[in-house]
Amino acid sequence: MPVTHLDSLEKIVSLSKSRGFIFQSSEIYGGLSAVYDYGPLGIELKRNVQNAWWKAMTQVHDNIVGVDAAIFMHPRVWEASGHVEGFNDPMIDDKQSKKRYRADMLIEQHILKLRENGDADKADELQNLLDTSGTRKGLCEDLYEIIMNEEIRAPESGAFDWTEVRQFNLMFKTHYGAVTKDEDDVIYLRPETAQGIFVNYKNVMDTARVQIPFGIAQIGKAFRNEVVARQFVFRMREFEQMEMQYFVEPGTDGEEYDKWLEKRMEWHKDLGVRGEHLRAEPHPEDKLAHYARAAADIQYKYPIGWQEVEGIHNRTDYDLSRHHEYSGKKMEYYDQKEQKRYTPYVVETSVGLDRTMLMILCDAYREEEVDGDTRTVLKMHPKLAPTKVGIFPLIKKPELKELASKIEKELKEEFTVLYDESGSIGKRYRRQDEAGTPFCVTVDFDGLEDNTVTIRYRDDMKQDRVPVSRLSEVIRDGIKSWKVI
Ligand code: ATP
Repeated sequence: MPVTHLDSLEKIVSLSKSRGFIFQSSEIYGGLSAVYDYGPLGIELKRNVQNAWWKAMTQVHDNIVGVDAAIFMHPRVWEASGHVEGFNDPMIDDKQSKKRYRADMLIEQHILKLRENGDADKADELQNLLDTSGTRKGLCEDLYEIIMNEEIRAPESGAFDWTEVRQFNLMFKTHYGAVTKDEDDVIYLRPETAQGIFVNYKNVMDTARVQIPFGIAQIGKAFRNEVVARQFVFRMREFEQMEMQYFVEPGTDGEEYDKWLEKRMEWHKDLGVRGEHLRAEPHPEDKLAHYARAAADIQYKYPIGWQEVEGIHNRTDYDLSRHHEYSGKKMEYYDQKEQKRYTPYVVETSVGLDRTMLMILCDAYREEEVDGDTRTVLKMHPKLAPTKVGIFPLIKKPELKELASKIEKELKEEFTVLYDESGSIGKRYRRQDEAGTPFCVTVDFDGLEDNTVTIRYRDDMKQDRVPVSRLSEVIRDGIKSWKVI
């Protein structure tokens, strides 16, 4: 049976390692959980995704500019943003295995099991209790009570031996400077890139001659000490975000929010992700953060279920007003035409780079029967492919190598290429299929006579004979006209 969609992350984890997309961090020391390194293919794919996002945000919009703010920020930033007080997850420990869980997630899993077992009434009742947790005795106490009443056991050990539920702040804390280690030196690793944009709002306005509406885009690392992080690069403790804050006049925020939600959905499809695996899920009004007017997740159908890859939020004037309050610096905008002052509202688009990479790998993964064999192929958009062209001399002969090397040199100017002369041609094709290389060029003896080569297409394995002089053009056209199959 051909595989066109996966039901677990296993095959992606294993392909990522064997082909050099993604490795566990510090693997030779047993690894560091929820932290990953990108290998030679992974970094190429990552850069292509970053470039696609940067282009879609800054290059095609005259009114969106970029910044690259530092990871360390003044500690007051995180007080103003509300992270010191409120960026918490409720956690609970299994005393027997010493494993830590998110209390709300344990209950969600329990509800899922009840549904699977056909106990919909009980599941609805618990869902209601979970949704209203925090309104009775307080969040931790409410969650603890549900776990106790339902006798929910630890998934790994099966034990029913829990600690209390406690709030756990997800920010990594360290000390700044070498002198003392008191509370005054505390500094955080940023848990989101957005605040680096808000604190530069005035700088950008004063220097970039932008007028509302305008946006500021940024790609950068973020750090969260996630309680549960066991889903490969889906939930990491160090990850990368691509965020854009769009500053608008209050009153136009609803319209801008709708526009950005639509645009961002189109971007994911433009990456070649199949439309049926994407959906927009608006947050119900009663679940919105207190400052948010509207929010939606763009979700992808990962092998672990429908999950958020990007969030679109109408954050109102919350962040700018808070920074005004905490820094004492005015964050207003003066509209010269209308001669009025206001604090802009912000529509935010926030996409995880690593989750986007995982989405692309999952969506591209196929297993197909070919001549009684199974080929694994990554049918990703050629514009994202780490290697665009594989170049092979048919056999190891100096004359063939000479022409192949010449072609390699020429194509290198425009595309990422890989020269390979080891193993049978069939094996070389398979290796490139697994790496997602969309075009392979084979140089044979006929080519020495008439200056033509065979180009082989990854997706349908068709082959064409092409003059060497037209190769770049054929590859360029192939990238432009690509359609998902
Ligand atoms: P979740 O509910 O899945 O924890 P979130 O709502 O906390 O996500 P945001 O704060 O909106 O996420 O962050 C924006 C984006 O950053 C997310 O859509 C996701 O792609 C990415 N992201 C957030 N946390 C992580 C993480 N721990 N690992 C990888 N990517 C993440």
